[in-house]
Amino acid sequence: MQTQPRASHFIAGAYVEDESGEAFASVYPATGEAIARLHAATPAIVEQALAAADAARAEWRAMTGVERGRILRRAADIIRERNRDLSLLETMDTGKPLQETLVADAASGADALEYFGSVAAGLKGEHVQLGADFAYAIREPLGLCVGIGAWNYPIQIACWKAAPALACGNTMVFKPSETTPLTALKLAEILTEAGLPEGVFNVVQGFGEVGAALVEDPRVAKVSLTGSVPTGRKVYASAAAGMKHVTMELGGKSPIVIFDDADLEDAVAGAINGNFYSSGQICSNGTRLFVQSGIYDAFVARLAERLKSAVIGDPMDESTNFGPMVSEQQREIALRYVEKGVIEGAQLVIGGSALDQPGFYMCPAIFADVTDEMTIAREEIFGPVASVLKFETEEEAIARANATEFGLAAGVFTRDLARGHRVAAAFEAGTCWINTYNLTPIEMPFGGVKASGVGRENAAAAIEHYSQLKAVYVGMGPVEAPF
Ligand code: NAD
Repeated sequence: MQTQPRASHFIAGAYVEDESGEAFASVYPATGEAIARLHAATPAIVEQALAAADAARAEWRAMTGVERGRILRRAADIIRERNRDLSLLETMDTGKPLQETLVADAASGADALEYFGSVAAGLKGEHVQLGADFAYAIREPLGLCVGIGAWNYPIQIACWKAAPALACGNTMVFKPSETTPLTALKLAEILTEAGLPEGVFNVVQGFGEVGAALVEDPRVAKVSLTGSVPTGRKVYASAAAGMKHVTMELGGKSPIVIFDDADLEDAVAGAINGNFYSSGQICSNGTRLFVQSGIYDAFVARLAERLKSAVIGDPMDESTNFGPMVSEQQREIALRYVEKGVIEGAQLVIGGSALDQPGFYMCPAIFADVTDEMTIAREEIFGPVASVLKFETEEEAIARANATEFGLAAGVFTRDLARGHRVAAAFEAGTCWINTYNLTPIEMPFGGVKASGVGRENAAAAIEHYSQLKAVYVGMGPVEAPF
């Protein structure tokens, strides 16, 4: 398949190249081979993209919500028609098994475009009657938005940002992760084909400094970042200097609390989905598995047993359900954490080593007897490494689950639904699951608290983060004055 894009950037409805930008490659993680060569944006490209997005604002916001929504929904249809090709490209770019990308990546992006395409027509402000006078509030777009993506869900992240932004009448310059630059360009192509006016959605490539240049520009009204906490701190600070709106979708170290009365198979399945999908490279993963003492041994044994049936291998083979990690560097990070876990006294039950074959493969790992102060229980690994911790009481589990700087997600497994709701209410996390894990439908708000982020993506909540209210007071007269 054709993996080399026509050019590195997509600006004002067309592919654009500037070969003086730093060269970099997209690498297929299953083999380590370069599948595309691109150039990072130069200052001239950044300027071209920002100018195009700025110039497109007036026409786009002047369109009705129905018109904007129709274009987004058309793009959703095109994505679904091309789901297989887009999934193949996403698998080449990320190494994630085709079995996953066929259902979770472009498909989720299409859901976002369809959802916000439908919401666009219904956007409204407010009316407040004040006696004879009245006030109304106009819901306005923020203006030029910048989206910056991580590498684990490239087209999904691009769509989750573009869809609500564009539905509200904003324009966007999107910078994908330098590790996975390819599918955001396809999204730009598809939006253009669906009728999006030129300049409304633009893609520029590059490393952190390109992102930083976008964030600093005074024409930019809002920045939405998906990335790590350290990057989030830098981007938030830069945006604050310009008094810009932000959405920060950052990292996590989320807990899953499994009580004695839980359905064991469901809890184990939740732990698998919450630790090993996408080779563990998911922000909301429940990497701290707090298991009540009565079910602890059975849980660890069953989790290890089911992990043995993981099909690790060629991501293009649709029976593969565990692929390589995205890069050599990311695998090294995960392997170092496994070493730390062993040194600090956790019990490595299964996995944790690199596979001796081409590509960035490692065997998924489970640690038992993990304690709260161990490094593997405190830091985000962003790899297939699960930690199982033992607890006795509900109060203890909640306190320990919340004892972290992060607050992205949390889960609880129990047959006692009153307890399920009580524990969910007590979690310090933006997204919680009861008796399931890691489902993120577009209809549900998604985002973190504490260091895991600011703002929400998806659902009606996202509209609040891509629009603002302008209040207009209407005096019906006469005007009173003190003198
Ligand atoms: P990262 O923070 O290294 O990079 C994220 C993006 O920010 C990249 O596009 C990068 O080029 C850009 N960037 C880096 N420095 C920048 C700067 N100074 N200014 C502007 N942009 C800059 O993250 P990553 O390694 O690509 O992704 C993994 C991280 O993302 C993990 O921490 C994971 O938890 C998080 N993540 C969060 C979510 C979520 O929705 N909460 C989803 C996916 C990933």
